Amino acid sequence: MDGQSKRFGAHLGEVYAQLPFEPVRGEGVYLYDQKGRRVLDLYGGHAVALLGYGHAALTSVIARQAKEMVFQSNAVPLRVRDEAADKLIEFAGAGLKRVFFVNSGAEANENALRIALKVTGRTKIVALEHGFHGRTAAAAAVSFGSSKGWYGFPRLPFDVVFVARDDPAALAKAVDASTAAVIIEPVQGLAGAYDISREYLAVAASACERAGALLILDEVQTGMGRLGEPFGANLYGIAPHLLTTAKGLAGGFPAGAVLMRAEIAHDFKVGALGTTFGGGPIACAAMCVVIDTIRRDNLLARVRDVSAYVRERCAVGPVTGFQGAGFLLGLRTRVPAVKVRDALLARDILTGTSADPHVLRLLPPLVLERRHIDDLVNALGEINATLQ
Ligand code: PLP
Repeated sequence: MDGQSKRFGAHLGEVYAQLPFEPVRGEGVYLYDQKGRRVLDLYGGHAVALLGYGHAALTSVIARQAKEMVFQSNAVPLRVRDEAADKLIEFAGAGLKRVFFVNSGAEANENALRIALKVTGRTKIVALEHGFHGRTAAAAAVSFGSSKGWYGFPRLPFDVVFVARDDPAALAKAVDASTAAVIIEPVQGLAGAYDISREYLAVAASACERAGALLILDEVQTGMGRLGEPFGANLYGIAPHLLTTAKGLAGGFPAGAVLMRAEIAHDFKVGALGTTFGGGPIACAAMCVVIDTIRRDNLLARVRDVSAYVRERCAVGPVTGFQGAGFLLGLRTRVPAVKVRDALLARDILTGTSADPHVLRLLPPLVLERRHIDDLVNALGEINATLQ
C-alpha cells in the first residue's frame, strides 16, 4: 500500500450482504468489535461456533497441533485422524461405522451423492422441496429452487425429483427402482428451521429399504449436538445409510464428514474417494475436543433445557410461534424477520434470517445459558413498538 487507506472491501467479490457490525474477537457467546461493543451471538456464524469463542481447550489444542504439524495428507496415517474417526463414529451411533473426512458441507454431500449413485448404479435422487444442500454441482442440483436461481451449470449431473416436505405418501411414491438415494435435512435449516415430521422420516427410511435406495441424512446444520442429541438420526430414531455433517464439527476450523454404514464403506477402496485437506491434523484435533467437550460439559442436556426455555419465554413482542428443535430454532414473526433481526442487532443481539421471510433463525453456540435468553426476551419486548 502507498500509505493511503484503501476502501473497505475494495477487492472482495460482492456476493454477500453484510451486517453493520465488524467483530474482531469473541469470548463465550459474545462477539466484540474494535471499540469494545459487545454483541450476544445467537447465530454462531451460520451454526459453526459450536463451543462459542475463545474456548480454552479448543484454542490450546489447535495451537499445539499447529506447532507440532500444521498439515499432512491422507497419504500418511495420523493418530489424531484415527482418534477423531473413532470418537465421531462412537458419538453418532445410528449404525454408522466408517467416516470419510472432507472440508465442508457441500463437499460432504457431493461425496455422499456420488457414493449412492455408484453403489446402486442408479440415476435418480429424490430431494425435498425447500431443502438446501450446498453450492457444488451435485449438492446444488438437489437444493430446491437452485436451477431457477443460482445453480449456474448448464445441466444437472443426474435426475432429480423434488417432493413436498409434508406429504409422506408423495415421497413413498417417488422412491422407485431408479432411485439411488433420498436426501433429507431432518430439520430444514435455511428454510427456517422447518421440522420434517417423525412420520415423514420413517416413511423415507422404509421407502428406501423397500426400493433398494439409500437414505442420506444431511446433518450439516442439525448435527454435532445442535438438536439436543448427537444427530437428528438419534433424535428421530432413524438409521440412515449415509450421514453428512460439517459446520460446527471442528468448532470453527473447516471440516466436514461423510459417515456410512459398514456395507457401504465396503464398496469403497483405495482411489474411490479423495481430498487433499480433508482429515488434516488440526481439524481432527479440534473435532476430538468438540466431542469430548459436548460429553464432559453435558451440552446435549443444556441444549434441550435452554431450547425449551426459549419456547417458554420468547413468545413476546413480534414473535408469534416456534419451529425447529434444540438450537436450530425458528421464531415466527408477525413482521418481516429481517426487521426483527436489524432491531435486535441495534440492541446488541445477533440473530439470523432464513428463506422464509417470517422466520427468524437462532443457531447459537451450545454453551448458551438461560440468562442469555432473558436478554433476548427483554429486547423482543423493547423493539415491539418500533416494528410495523
Ligand atoms: N447442507 C446444509 C443443510 C446446510 O445448511 C449447508 C450450509 O448452510 C450446506 C449443506 C453446505 O455447507 P457448506 O457451506 O459448508 O458447503
